[in-house]
Amino acid sequence: MNLDILKECKEAKRIGISGHIRPDGDCVGSVLGLQMYLRKCIPGAEVKVFLEKPADIFREIRGFDEIDTQFPEQEPFDVFFALDSGAERLGEAEKYFRAAKKTINIDHHISNSGSGNLNYIKPEVGSTSELIYDLIDLDKLDRDMAMAIYIGIIHDTGVFQYSNTTPETMEKGAKLIGYGFDFARLIQETFYQKTYVQTQIMGRALMESIRFMDNTCIVSMVDRKTMDFYDVTAKDLEGIVNQLRNIKGISCAIFMYETDVLEYKVSLRSDEKVNVAEVAAYFGGGGHARAAGCTMRGTFHDCVNNLSLHIAEQMDI
Ligand code: 5GP
Ligand code: MN
Repeated sequence: MNLDILKECKEAKRIGISGHIRPDGDCVGSVLGLQMYLRKCIPGAEVKVFLEKPADIFREIRGFDEIDTQFPEQEPFDVFFALDSGAERLGEAEKYFRAAKKTINIDHHISNSGSGNLNYIKPEVGSTSELIYDLIDLDKLDRDMAMAIYIGIIHDTGVFQYSNTTPETMEKGAKLIGYGFDFARLIQETFYQKTYVQTQIMGRALMESIRFMDNTCIVSMVDRKTMDFYDVTAKDLEGIVNQLRNIKGISCAIFMYETDVLEYKVSLRSDEKVNVAEVAAYFGGGGHARAAGCTMRGTFHDCVNNLSLHIAEQMDI
């Protein structure tokens, strides 16, 4: 199905946009990129963004300071967009989605079956930001919009490294950097750079990791106490699972952090031998074949045992 965003918003006076809880670069980039586009093309409409507070590294994207992180009561929106997730992962913004007169869901997660009146779900495309690029009139693209979309693409493709990068992704990236923003600095400051404590807690998680299943899988966990000790939040733990996956011989990496008593947020990364989207879906989560996540309850050992059963099934062990 093709989606004509501007046609769908033609009569709209109030438009809302949101993305998933714990917003990542793709979520922030696509949401703010779409906001800039709609404001430019439909100057008569009010276009608002609602998100959980994103990491400060994204503050340079236009619209960042205007993001509503409080989710106050609102009149129903004429059109409400869910980006990079289905309705069920919108968190507090889900109420706006449910009440809106028209809902549009744009996503690239294979686990999303489409929760809008209109759905544009393309699991074969590497990022939602790339989908926004595909859906906009490129004559309207400007430097700020290009930067937002570019940041989204680099975050979900690991700076054009992961297998979700296609020749088309690279061509779009080339066109985007043509707008003249300092892409090298943005890659460094939003993707690679870490604070000292972020590096310390990563070091600790790597130190304490355990390999299992003939050293083809690895798991590491950070508990609440350790997070409190380093004074970090979930945002500071990003990147640990990728580092675990970089280890030679590892087909599946698991990183977990404690969210509550006997509750863990689980991140999964894999190579072509394991489809972690299927593993995560089994526990009520989702994501992509090689990067997925879920929330699990139970002791750390129970969680790892349950995960490894499903991983082993796929690896024929
Ligand atoms: P991460 O491990 O970086 O948090 O997430 C990896 C991928 O899995 C992302 O595409 C993310 O959106 C997805 N994901 C992570 N956790 C969940 C979850 O609990 N539910 C669903 N549906 N997707 C998730
Ligand atoms: Mn994404």
